[in-house]
Amino acid sequence: MDDKRRAALLCRLGVIVGRRFVESLLLFGRVFRHKKPLRMKLIVQKYGGTSVANPGRIKNVAQRVRETCAQGNQVVVVVSAMSGVTDGLIKLAREVHPAPDDREMDMMLATGEQTTIALMAMALHGLGLKAVSLTGAQAGIVTDGVHTKAKIVNITPKRVHEMLDAGNVVIVAGFQGVDNAGAITTLGRGGSDLTAIALAAALKADLCEIYTDVDGVYTADPRLVKNAKKLEEISYDEMLEMASLGAKVMQSRSVEFAKKFKVPFSVRSSMNNNPGTLVKEETRKMEDVVIRGVTVDKNQAKVTIAQVPDKPGMAAQVFKAIADANVNVDMIVQNVSASGHTDLTFTLAKDEVPRARRALEPVLREMGAGGVACTEGIAKLSVVGIGMRSHCGVAAGMFDALAAEKINIQMISTSEIKISVVIDGAQADRAMNIVHAKFGLG
Ligand code: ADP
Ligand code: ASP
Ligand code: MG
Repeated sequence: MDDKRRAALLCRLGVIVGRRFVESLLLFGRVFRHKKPLRMKLIVQKYGGTSVANPGRIKNVAQRVRETCAQGNQVVVVVSAMSGVTDGLIKLAREVHPAPDDREMDMMLATGEQTTIALMAMALHGLGLKAVSLTGAQAGIVTDGVHTKAKIVNITPKRVHEMLDAGNVVIVAGFQGVDNAGAITTLGRGGSDLTAIALAAALKADLCEIYTDVDGVYTADPRLVKNAKKLEEISYDEMLEMASLGAKVMQSRSVEFAKKFKVPFSVRSSMNNNPGTLVKEETRKMEDVVIRGVTVDKNQAKVTIAQVPDKPGMAAQVFKAIADANVNVDMIVQNVSASGHTDLTFTLAKDEVPRARRALEPVLREMGAGGVACTEGIAKLSVVGIGMRSHCGVAAGMFDALAAEKINIQMISTSEIKISVVIDGAQADRAMNIVHAKFGLG
């Protein structure tokens, strides 16, 4: 073999060895990738009443779910009753009985969500996806027996896991569970949020998304304050205060649950792909913002008990009776004693008034107190922000803004991160806009 041919042969050999080397590298890369495949993500998506209000909207949600699946995710969908259905059922019940039995209410209310899960499964079938619907009980959501506002005691989502593993989208009815005696329960208004967050915790989901009819959580209800701004993120504590003070975008109990079990979640619109608001644990940076948002709750009533004997144990008896009736009270004010008697005033949700009255009557009679006066038509206006812990002057600023517009304050209460005032309900929307502007939130 002459030198030329030897050189050509060596060159070809070099090319072959080189190519093999590159191929081995690629193969190694592939093997390596296969050894650590990207784990499928499990996503819980909750769609509220307006997002499933009609067949078109249900099909829109199904399309979104299909896209999420196409990205290689497992999806659990939690749905509410179609918009207006729960209110309609409550109205219907009241037409049959003025104070319907709570157990029977739950039996009826649960049908709203049960309709939606089946329709959602059908819509997904229409897109060629495997999907199966489950009631709260079938999904393993066990609650206490306090009908119409039951608390979740445990979740055993065995069936959800099995159905996901079989390749299904699993659709779970929000707002409902089952107690130990097998009775259907509901989790309080807006309770589908709680179902979603509790399921996300129990399933150890990678992501929990609450889809609704606004782009996220705003500095104030965007329907009432036109220049309200969408928040990129908010801490659990702020979201919890805003939710319990009237921002109905999230059910407050669901936020409490998310905080307790450290479930970060986002609030987003089901009508677009905007990023939404992330609700999560507080970070240092968040404290720089003094006021995160303003809320108003028009669903409040004020109860005043006159002539309560001014001696130890009276307040305890009053509020024990109310607590035993499962009524939550909010602000409490006791006036200075005059001639051995005081007035006791507290606020509560409007629809709890009859229940509170029934619970109070025998106790007040026994203690020799005066009558009970209930005032509706009030509103609670609040400002919320964790920055309030380290900044002063917020209360003064708020009261000043209201005074300048001649809005009278009837009651005041504060916590570390909120200030609330009770005002006349008719002035609530105006007051909200004034305070929102005062703190430069728009
Ligand atoms: P869903 O039916 O999806 O659960 P909700 O009606 O319960 O939706 O909650 C969404 C509504 O919450 C919005 O339409 C909005 O008017 C209201 N809302 C009140 N306060 C706020 C806020 N601070 N940010 C966003 N939305 C709010
Ligand atoms: N359907 C229930 C309600 O209207 C629960 C929910 O929508 O979250 O309150
Ligand atoms: Mg809701």
